Amino acid sequence: MVISSKFLDALTPSSIRSITAKIRDKAKDGIQVVSFAGGLPSKEFFPLEDLRRITDQVFEEEGGEAIQYAASDGYDPLRQYLVEFMKRYQVNNIDYKNILITSGAQQGLAYLSKGMIEPGSVVIVENPSYPGALDTFRSYGAEIVGVSMDDDGMKMDVLEQMLQQQHKKVAFIYTIADFQNPTGRCMSIERRKKLVELAETYDTFVVEDGPYSLISFDGQVMPAIKSFDTYGRVIYSGSTSKTIAPGLRIGWLIADHESITKLVYLKMRDDLQVNNIAQRQVYHYLKDCDFDGHLKTVIDVYRRRRDVMAEAVRASFPEGTRVILPGGGLFMWVDLPEGTDALEMFDFVFQKNIAYVPGQFFCCDGSGKNAMRLNFSTTGEEDIARCIPILGEMIKQYLKK
Ligand code: PMP
Repeated sequence: MVISSKFLDALTPSSIRSITAKIRDKAKDGIQVVSFAGGLPSKEFFPLEDLRRITDQVFEEEGGEAIQYAASDGYDPLRQYLVEFMKRYQVNNIDYKNILITSGAQQGLAYLSKGMIEPGSVVIVENPSYPGALDTFRSYGAEIVGVSMDDDGMKMDVLEQMLQQQHKKVAFIYTIADFQNPTGRCMSIERRKKLVELAETYDTFVVEDGPYSLISFDGQVMPAIKSFDTYGRVIYSGSTSKTIAPGLRIGWLIADHESITKLVYLKMRDDLQVNNIAQRQVYHYLKDCDFDGHLKTVIDVYRRRRDVMAEAVRASFPEGTRVILPGGGLFMWVDLPEGTDALEMFDFVFQKNIAYVPGQFFCCDGSGKNAMRLNFSTTGEEDIARCIPILGEMIKQYLKK
């Protein structure tokens, strides 16, 4: 017998992972795909030596305690360290009890979905947005409504109109304010402040997802929306997936004490606690190693890769292409000439062993057909310079068909 429930039977595979599966199938046949589709940080730069040393040290100093059952809210020294860490984003008014350690930001988003979405709830998102979040919100029954963006991020006038006209309960407004996945855009300071005010006026919450904030090519880190939150309307979600390594699965949620307590009860019923060793690895890495030096190395590499990609796209993509040059993060969003269907075009391009993510995957309303997201963090400069012109040529050929 196959297990079955309304919830389970409604689940579908994640759209981006279906591309990953295609790439893996080719790899099994010995064909290496140059993938601009991933959302991964580059594993060449993971701080393996430091992590190895830290792990030895933790076992030596803490023995079995390091792999014993532990508190559901997280490893206190890490929570305390994150209070300091959040000052990088000008979040100054929290203590460690405002923080819940999660197994990556994704688990935090799942907890917020479980805890805040009720039947008939709406979740408002940027359009386009991160499909992993949209899939999670939908799986807990939310209706997703998208707000269009411009170079300053989510449009506040459109959002306000939507909030005014909305008859259903808005569980929360989800935003990736810094170097957004997929567009690479940042929300302006003015809009950050406005968003907090709108959440207060219309009695809802903001979920601020910030995994890319520190990957800033000019080194400037924007103040988090949470830093303007005088009402307790913003729940912040952090992660070390893009700055240290995603497989460690360390993220955190920041909210008021009572909300955190409720989320801890949820965690007790879900997975009891986050992996002990990983929490200690991240704590010691941030505190005792050269995290800022590491970050600088990664940022320099990604910036160069972005530059090579932007130049190649401009030189080789068809007329009518528009590139958003990201100031940080891992992604470049490319609008192709009207009439392009990037989803339909995928297999045509894939013949050349090149992959990207079609824009439709990020849009909650069927738009984004003529767009694609290109990742520049995982492919070296040479491969970018070699393959982007091939991609450009394939797009031109597709458009001639
Ligand atoms: N939020 C966004 C915007 C992301 O892009 C990702 C990962 N691609 C996540 C959350 C999930 O991150 P984590 O590895 O911390 O679960």
